Parts: sequence; C-alpha cells; structure tokens
Amino acid sequence: MRISPESAKLAHSIHFPSPMHLPFVRGAWLALLLLLSACATAPYRPVVTGSPPIPLLLISLDGVRPDYLERGITPHLSALAREGVHAKWMNPSYPSLTFPNHYTLVTGLRPNRHGIINNTMWDEHLGDFTLSNREAVGDARWWSGEPIWVSAEKAGMRTATMFWPGSEAAVGGVRPWQWRKFDHQMSIDQRVDQILAWLSLPAAERPQLATLYFEHIDTAGHEGGPDSLEVTEALRQVDAGIGRLMASLEARGLRDKINMIVVSDHGMAATSPQRTVIVEDLISPEDARVVTTGQVVGFTPKPGREAVAAQKLLGKHGAVECWRKQDMPARWHYGTHPRIPPIVCQADEGWLLVKRATYEKGVSIGWQGGGSHGYDPALPSMRAIFIAHGPAFRERMTVPGFDNVDVYPLLARLMGVSPAENDGDAQTLLPILKPASKEESDPQR
Ligand code: AMP
Ligand code: ZN
Ligand code: ZN
Repeated sequence: MRISPESAKLAHSIHFPSPMHLPFVRGAWLALLLLLSACATAPYRPVVTGSPPIPLLLISLDGVRPDYLERGITPHLSALAREGVHAKWMNPSYPSLTFPNHYTLVTGLRPNRHGIINNTMWDEHLGDFTLSNREAVGDARWWSGEPIWVSAEKAGMRTATMFWPGSEAAVGGVRPWQWRKFDHQMSIDQRVDQILAWLSLPAAERPQLATLYFEHIDTAGHEGGPDSLEVTEALRQVDAGIGRLMASLEARGLRDKINMIVVSDHGMAATSPQRTVIVEDLISPEDARVVTTGQVVGFTPKPGREAVAAQKLLGKHGAVECWRKQDMPARWHYGTHPRIPPIVCQADEGWLLVKRATYEKGVSIGWQGGGSHGYDPALPSMRAIFIAHGPAFRERMTVPGFDNVDVYPLLARLMGVSPAENDGDAQTLLPILKPASKEESDPQR
C-alpha cells in the first residue's frame, strides 16, 4: 500500500461547504460573512481519503537459493511465488555474507557504503565486530545509512522486527517500536506467533512494517552442503512455518490484506577438505594480521612488513586471488571503506582459506565438507530469492534477476516514505506493482 504524503495530509484536512456554491451569494464580503458563520455553526467533518495502511511483512530465509524452491518440498513458498511475483533470482552484494546483505536489503546501500563490510570486522575506533559480540551488534556506530524501519518510525509509523541484522542498534537514535535480540533457540513457531500477534493488533496499533528472519536453512546448508538431507529437512520446517503463518492470516481474514516480500541474502555452494587452502602457507602471521578467513580473507600487513606482504599475497595463487583493496574488481563496488583491510583475497567457488589450526580441528572431527557462501555474487550458486505477494503486487508474474540494492526503493515506496540516498534503482521493481489507481480506489482494502 502506498501512503502518499498528500493522502496523509488530506486525511487530516477539514471539510466544510463553500458559500460560493450558493446562488444568492454575490459579493465577496457577503461570502466572507457566510463563510465565517458556516465555520461557527457547521460541525467539523474530517475527509477520510484513505483506509488503514496495509502492513508490509519482510521475511528473510537465510541462505536460500532459487533452485531450492523447485525441489518440490516447499508447497507454501512455491504457492506464494506462483500466485504473486517472483524473480528468477536476486544478486547479492559483495561480499555474499549474511550481515552485509541483510543490511543492504533494508538500506539500499552496498556494504562498502553502509559499513557492514563483513560479518567479522575490525575498526580502528570501535575494535572488533563479530556476530556473537552482542555489544558490537547493538552498537549503532557500526551501522551507517538509514534502514527502512528508521525512515518509517521517523514518519510516525510503527515497525516491529522479529530479528534482522541492524535492528538491535539505535541507528540514528531510532529503534523499531518492537525488536528482539537474536536468539537462535527461538523456534520457528514462536517467531511466527510473534508476527501473528503483531499483525492481529487493531489497525491503529499494529505495525505497518514487520520483519521475520529464519537462519535454519543456512545453518543446514553449512552443515551438509546445498544438496544435503539437512537442507531438505530445514526447507520443510521453514516452509511449514510459512504455511502456518498464511493459514493463520487467512483465518483472521488478513491473508490478502498484507503485502509480503520474501527474500534471502545469498545462496550456498558445496565445500570440501580437498578444496582448502591454509592461510599460513600464503603468508606468515609475522608479516600480516588475518582479519577474516573463509571465502573473503582480509589481511592487514604488520608495520614495516607492507612490501613483503604485498609481494607474498597480491595476485592469483591457485584458487585464491588477492588485491590491494583499492584495486578490487569494479563490479563488486567494494574497496574504499576504511574498515576493509588493505589486502583482500577472494576464494574461488567452493574453496576455503583457513588457518592451519582450524583445518586440523576439522580433520580431527572427521569434517567431510559441507557448504558455504561468500563467493563471487555473480556465481549462480550465490543467487538469492525474491518473492512478493499481496494487494500491492501483480499476480502470476516472473521478473528477471536483479541486484538486491533495488529492494530498498521498493520498500520505501510501499511504506510511503521518500527513500534515503541509496545505490538501488527505483525503476527495476516498479513493474511488479499494480497500477496505483487500482490499488487506491479499491474500497475493500
Ligand atoms: P553466516 O555466517 O553469514 O552464515 O551468518 C549466518 C548466521 O548469522 C546465522 O546462523 C545466525 O546465527 C547469525 N545471525 C543472524 N542474524 C543475527 C543477528 N541479528 N544477530 C546475531 N547473529 C545473527
Ligand atoms: Zn546468510
Ligand atoms: Zn551462512
């Protein structure tokens, strides 16, 4: 639903009959007299130009690839995709990791601009950032840009987050009306129940934007790889949760009165002990500090060791390629943020770059491989999903792949707020919206 600033203003305007429409009124002075008397006697009648805004529910299924929805095990998600709009795929931003991409989805900024340049970071003023560092995750100084819930709250709307990276920090001094600290023990059903509770509030009290997040399929993908039984089982469970959400909304008469967008942050590729590179074989810890390992590996040369580090690291080494941050491929739009370490190495699809101790620990517990992401966002295995369903969206429509920075301008439009500066293109997803006139004139909304 679009709440245009005009209709918001009009909803608060006052209507009274104009004296100029009366046939016996001749002079302006008489008109003025009549107007004054009309003001004094006629009851104030607000002009109601809009019905209660349609809530927007943004759901993220971490680590879900588009092909997962074609495996015949996700009837509810597949139905949403079939009935509404779905993209063939959505391109993650670089790096294809969870925190950078979730924050891109809600700000329209690439990680290089919003500052969450990796799941693991080091900042010269703020120190270390990791997903398990609750203090850092909730510290607004890490999070730049303006997430959609902040824009909406500033515009006087209520927002509620059932988990979303960034929602635990008071970005720009603003938090969602309701938000929750991430807790992986909170079950799928409990999360769905919380969303149902929020959306079932009376129209004047319920949030106009809510988020819902599930990490289960990503966790299964890491453990068993994209083609594993673990992924199948997690897909079934999350799909059942979505099914229960839709059925409960239906029972409350809300199923078709909610705009829903279902996205993922990135895909998943199979990993293997045979596709592992040991960091210490590339460079000694005496020459450079390793800031991140895995697929996107950041190095900060030790003082006085810059030339040695550059000589050892820069260039292509088998399945790993390293650049000075400013020389990274332009299509990744990455490399200028101060938090990005001076040298960044990117692993090829399915390869891992890990410290020797990590590798040996894996061998000792019989690690046979699994799955990971963080690879080139252009790889089909890194593709994310996008589904849109509800009264604002067209039906039975498939759109081509697009970049995830384009989601934010759509969110801003649906919330009726002017988008903050962003890297997305507002035109990309315009065709998925029903024409405004139809949507706004439908009295049943
Ligand atoms: P990744 O390492 O990129 O696969 O990150 C996925 C993991 O991020 C999930 O398994 C969660 O444990 C974690 N995660 C997701 N959302 C949050 C959050 N809001 N706060 C902390 N950790 C999170
Ligand atoms: Zn993720
Ligand atoms: Zn993951």
